[in-house]
Amino acid sequence: MELFNTLGGKIETLEPVGAPEMRMYCCGPTVYDYGHIGNFRTFLHVDVLRRFLRQQGVTLKFVMNITDVDDKIIRNASAAGKNIADYTGKYEKAFFEDSDALGILRPEIVAHATSCIPDMVALIQKLAEQDIAYQAEDGSWYFRIARFPGYGKLSRKDFEGIEDGARVDVDEYEKDAARDFALWKASKPGEQSWNTELGCGRPGWHIECSAMATKFLGESFDLHCGGEDLMFPHHENEIAQSESATGHPFARHWMHVRFLLVEGRKMSKSEGNFYTLRDLLLKGYRASAIRFLLISVPYRHQMNFTFESLLESTNAIDRLRTFHQRMLKGGFPEGLDELLAATTAKAEQGYTASLANDLNTAEARAAIFELVRTANSAADAGTLRAGNVQQILRVLDLFDGVFAVLKDNDAEITRSALAWAEQEGRLSEAAPELLAKLSLSDAEIEGLVTERTQAKKARNFARADAIRNELIAKGILIEDSKDGVRWRRK
Ligand code: AMP
Ligand code: ZN
Repeated sequence: MELFNTLGGKIETLEPVGAPEMRMYCCGPTVYDYGHIGNFRTFLHVDVLRRFLRQQGVTLKFVMNITDVDDKIIRNASAAGKNIADYTGKYEKAFFEDSDALGILRPEIVAHATSCIPDMVALIQKLAEQDIAYQAEDGSWYFRIARFPGYGKLSRKDFEGIEDGARVDVDEYEKDAARDFALWKASKPGEQSWNTELGCGRPGWHIECSAMATKFLGESFDLHCGGEDLMFPHHENEIAQSESATGHPFARHWMHVRFLLVEGRKMSKSEGNFYTLRDLLLKGYRASAIRFLLISVPYRHQMNFTFESLLESTNAIDRLRTFHQRMLKGGFPEGLDELLAATTAKAEQGYTASLANDLNTAEARAAIFELVRTANSAADAGTLRAGNVQQILRVLDLFDGVFAVLKDNDAEITRSALAWAEQEGRLSEAAPELLAKLSLSDAEIEGLVTERTQAKKARNFARADAIRNELIAKGILIEDSKDGVRWRRK
């Protein structure tokens, strides 16, 4: 497939080099709080890429790290009076629960920063041997960026005339400021620290990823991913550290997912304009609709989040699922309609070609919806044949291998979110209709539906109608058909 490479700024073929498997790394979450859906936009597009590569027959070794020590974690943990591991454990668990709910496949390897401290120390020592890492008066170690001539090659910034020795010791800092950055931070009173050959302290954020990527994927590997904000300084610093230490190119290909915006501004914790997955689930939106929305705008475009678009996404999923059910139910005459077979083949080609073209999810989705529209019309007109259904189901499966929205786990996910809200004392945030809807279990609904059927048989129409109204009030729709009574949650 072809994928835009930030390093060099061109679309290039993405392929494994020097190993049968593709080696891929993504900067994972900083587990200091619940992730917001902007964070998940990035992880979702990486998931789409992984799923598509697998579909193309590529074997992947995908490493994602968990940043479980950094400035924010230290600050929040000490404010909460907890040690780092206790503090981060809760948010790491929540991150994987949210990822699962959004259909994000687990990485082959999850690397924790706090489990790789010796690797970070060794890397810093390698840099110190070449005098590229130096120790400041307070015991912290810094990277001397004047010693790395390629500094700025990823973000294509020109750092001519940077002041040698100007330092910065925070993990995140303002754009365009090229400064010697902290590799190892000497411990301050009250902070958790590791006693190592470099002194007592903790790693800087940038060295964490260099050490973990190299540990699991080798000095050079195929693809490195993250959100667009990581390009500078984080990824620029990773390249500087790794290439200075090894003398080899670090990642060959760099993929950056552009921001999720709210009213034109980046969704972020600091702006206060963010939604977590749990916020949206409690408002009554479905996990599948959130996944579908966040992946439907191609990763190289910024995307504006609106509730209107979330509702459209919900409707689109309903349309797709209803169509899928219609095809599964079958009952179409034998044979094959040639014209529809050609449309189906075209949809499949359109889907694959779009994703192979820099992961154009919008076009891939459009190709499938065009098929849904045509096949629904054919079914209505009576021209759809059983042979077409087989082909259509195969294409839907292919599509769903990447988009992953056909299987309906939504109610179950929402129930887990409600259980979590109850534990956290946040049940009051849940939408009233959601609480009402979920107050009936499937078995209770079945019971009422059966009671209604019996009431009708006994010509007790008042009771039958009362049950029907109760179900509707709780968001449950019932349909009488030739084959009996069916119900579904609205
Ligand atoms: P963090 O947990 O802050 O380290 O971020 C995790 C990932 O989410 C990183 O790859 C960020 O670049 C990415 N990210 C943060 N905010 C957004 C946003 N508004 N839209 C898309 N990705 C984001
Ligand atoms: Zn990273």
